[in-house]
Amino acid sequence: MRKKAQMALDEQPVAKRNYAKASEQADLSAQEQSIDMREFEFTKAPINWIPAAILVATPIAAAVITPWYLWTHEVSAPVWGVFGAFMVWTGISITAGYHRLLSHRAYKAHPIVKNFLLLGSTLAVQGSAFDWVSGHRTHHRHVDDRLDDPYSAQRGFWFSHIGWMLRNYLAVNLIIKTFLI
Ligand SMILES: [Zn+2]
Repeated sequence: MRKKAQMALDEQPVAKRNYAKASEQADLSAQEQSIDMREFEFTKAPINWIPAAILVATPIAAAVITPWYLWTHEVSAPVWGVFGAFMVWTGISITAGYHRLLSHRAYKAHPIVKNFLLLGSTLAVQGSAFDWVSGHRTHHRHVDDRLDDPYSAQRGFWFSHIGWMLRNYLAVNLIIKTFLI
């Protein structure tokens, strides 16, 4: 396509050709400027205080309280059983529910199964099904794009797993706006 446009340009008189090249360059630099602007806005995104506090405090609290609790208390087999069951339930619910069933529509499920997975996903504390699905579809549409993928791996392991939730980034805002509209 570009080659064809270039050939058409080459057939034009020189003055016209130079003008077209200049306007093409202006277009390109405007595009680059808007990318720079978005990148600048990205670095200035305000902190999402409540999710940030929860996501930072919970693992620290778990790392401190769990060993202390296990050291000072007797934990019965049924408690371990419930712990294991919840681990499996919440994990499966995100991967088979929010991800495969709702985001990708990879299979159909009976309403009982659907509600079981929705409840498990809620217990996994990963936000509403609407937000999760919308974010995940945006991720697949713009996969690894630095600005449009809400959890782009191009920005590194920490950003794509946790960092994207700590600040109010534009790509994440768009997900919520799309859902509200
Ligand atoms: Zn996916």
